[in-house]
Amino acid sequence: MTKARQSILDFLLQVKEPVSASDLAKQLEHACDPATVYRNLHYLEDHNLATSFILHCSEHGTERYYTAQEGGHHHWFHCEKCHRFIDIGSCLYEEQLKRFEEEHDFIIHDHTFFLTGICHACKMAALL
Ligand SMILES: [Zn+2]
Ligand SMILES: [Zn+2]
Ligand SMILES: [Zn+2]
Repeated sequence: MTKARQSILDFLLQVKEPVSASDLAKQLEHACDPATVYRNLHYLEDHNLATSFILHCSEHGTERYYTAQEGGHHHWFHCEKCHRFIDIGSCLYEEQLKRFEEEHDFIIHDHTFFLTGICHACKMAALL
C-alpha cells in the first residue's frame, strides 16, 4: 500500500464517521494533492476497504461520503440541523435482501441506505 493510500485509510479509520471526498482532500492536503486523494478513494472502495454514499444537505450540497469498511457495513443518520452523522449500527437488511433476490431472481451486490432528520440533541434544544 502506498503512503498516501495508507494515510487516507488511517484517517477514515480514526474519524469513525463518514467524511466527504472534498473534506478528506482538505484534511490531507499536507500529505498529497486532491487528485491522489480521489484516485485512492476509488482504489480503497474497489478493494472493499472503504465504502461510500452520496448525500445531499442544505449545508454541504451534494457530496460523496466515505467510511472505512472495517467492523462491517454500517448505516448512518445525518442531522439536518447540526450536520453530524450518527452511527445507527450494523446492517439489519440481510434477510430482506435475500428475499428480494429470491423473489426477483437477481443478485444484489450493494445497497445504500441512510436516514436524515433531526437528531436527539437538536430536538431537545428546539423544546427549550
Ligand atoms: Zn442535530
Ligand atoms: Zn448536512
Ligand atoms: Zn446495509
